[in-house]
Amino acid sequence: MSQNVKIKSTEHLTHDVLRIVTGKPEGITYIPGQAVDMSINKNGWEKEIRTFTFTSLPEDSYLEFTIKTYPAHNGVTQQLLALGEGDELTLYDVYGDISYKGEGIFIAGGAGITPFIAILKHLEKLNLVGNNKLIFANKTKADIILENKFKNLLGNNFINILSDENLEGYEHGFISAGLIQKHIDNDSQYFYLCGPDPMMTAVEKHLDSLNIPKDKIVREAF
Ligand SMILES: Cc1cc2nc3c(=O)[nH]c(=O)nc-3n(C[C@H](O)[C@H](O)[C@H](O)COP(=O)(O)OP(=O)(O)OC[C@H]3O[C@@H](n4cnc5c(N)ncnc54)[C@H](O)[C@@H]3O)c2cc1C
Repeated sequence: MSQNVKIKSTEHLTHDVLRIVTGKPEGITYIPGQAVDMSINKNGWEKEIRTFTFTSLPEDSYLEFTIKTYPAHNGVTQQLLALGEGDELTLYDVYGDISYKGEGIFIAGGAGITPFIAILKHLEKLNLVGNNKLIFANKTKADIILENKFKNLLGNNFINILSDENLEGYEHGFISAGLIQKHIDNDSQYFYLCGPDPMMTAVEKHLDSLNIPKDKIVREAF
């Protein structure tokens, strides 16, 4: 089944990340962390289906998506850059493997932050942010999505790591087992992973080397 939704607004959150707000079709339900298959309802693009995560909350009266675009690549996200109010997206199935199971460490690479935007917003609303931590890996500071929001929400529990910039207050390089270990508080914590495949593979190896049981790892590859 598919449903068309109209775009209400688009704005840049970073140089290449768009926030797109649309209307909400009757009957659509999702849980924070889930995503939906969609295409652009425009000649030639109807069959190009891609997946994006809801960064709105299920009870919101609108849908919100946070989308990293590839402006130099002739794909769907390049097309999204040209859309505006009134243009239409077609939504298909809702799915996703990430949902909140309990306190832990969220580990995201780039646009892999999107399920955690929804989950952390949800926890904020319920006053349950607690001691959850976020390790967010990006190339440069300019790539960090919603940096101020996460700083306000998590304080010192928001750890940024930049591979291509060496800045005071930011870890430098790639996520290591040592960095993860530094932030582990107890052995009942969950580890939530989302990002590009190479990052996921590396982080899973680190978690394995730290003897984290598989049932404490919640993951989704982008
Ligand atoms: C469950 C799930 C949820 C997701 N949620 C989100 C989300 O909320 N937000 C989000 O931003 N992404 C999300 N993604 C990823 C998103 O689906 C892809 O980034 C999207 O498919 C990109 O579509 P595209 O048509 O622009 O590029 P595609 O044609 O699908 O190609 C994307 C790939 O092209 C590569 N590429 C970049 N530039 C070039 C170039 N110049 N030439 C060739 N290749 C290039 C990129 O590395 C990227 O891997 C999600 C993925 C999954 C599986």
